[in-house]
Amino acid sequence: GIVVRHLRKRFGDYVALDDVSFEVPDGQLVGLLGPSGSGKSTVLRIIAGLEAPDFGTVELTGEDATTLPTRQRGVGFVFQHYALFRHMTVRQNIAFGLEVKKCPRTEIKKRVDELLDLVQLTPHAERYPSQLSGGQRQRVALARALAPRPRVLLLDEPFGALDAKVREELRAWLRKLHDEVHVTSLFVTHDQQEAFEVADQVVILHQGRVEQIGPPQELYERPATPFVTEFLGAVN
Ligand code: ATP
Ligand code: MG
Repeated sequence: GIVVRHLRKRFGDYVALDDVSFEVPDGQLVGLLGPSGSGKSTVLRIIAGLEAPDFGTVELTGEDATTLPTRQRGVGFVFQHYALFRHMTVRQNIAFGLEVKKCPRTEIKKRVDELLDLVQLTPHAERYPSQLSGGQRQRVALARALAPRPRVLLLDEPFGALDAKVREELRAWLRKLHDEVHVTSLFVTHDQQEAFEVADQVVILHQGRVEQIGPPQELYERPATPFVTEFLGAVN
């Protein structure tokens, strides 16, 4: 799983994270939910090793990863605008991380075929990103992130740029996919409905602090703070 403890991060005088602690248990999909500017992406970037915390620790599958460089953390990520390689086909995009790791050719072929099937893009394997819809592109990005079998998967508003209907389809699809592959995942969103539909547990972040952690049902039934009540009430 992922364990973060007492994360603090300042940008100049601005406190972006103020003692953030939570866990993503093995095999779970946890949603990190909060309004814009609450610190969600900063948490993800610290877990990925793209940003160093001022204080606190990051543990990945039982190992202290706080000072490990990104490439040694074994994290896969999908961001809203984490562009695919435009000059590469879907197949080549998915294979990229395996080629970097110098996997044998036959093994790469097998893994990529498996992933194409998983993200339902087998018929589009030889297309280029410009020939795909936005939703299809994000599915390629997800397959590419999963290819090297990461220890954990980090998703930062992966469907944020898509229209409402496609977003809803992908939500349901991501949940189904997660039930098949069970990769430990942290899913960042500012959309309550998205978090509640997809995640096993939700961490609610507000001004760099964790307001509440729990399964969706529990957050609805027993909001722990006025902020949670108001934030969750806003959509219903
Ligand atoms: P959003 O939903 O808009 O993506 P977020 O919850 O992901 O928001 P963060 O990107 O983590 O928020 O930013 C948290 C706060 O820290 C914001 O006020 C932001 O302006 C600030 N911040 C983030 N990165 C930097 C940086 N590199 N330099 C200065 N301030 C930063
Ligand atoms: Mg963000």
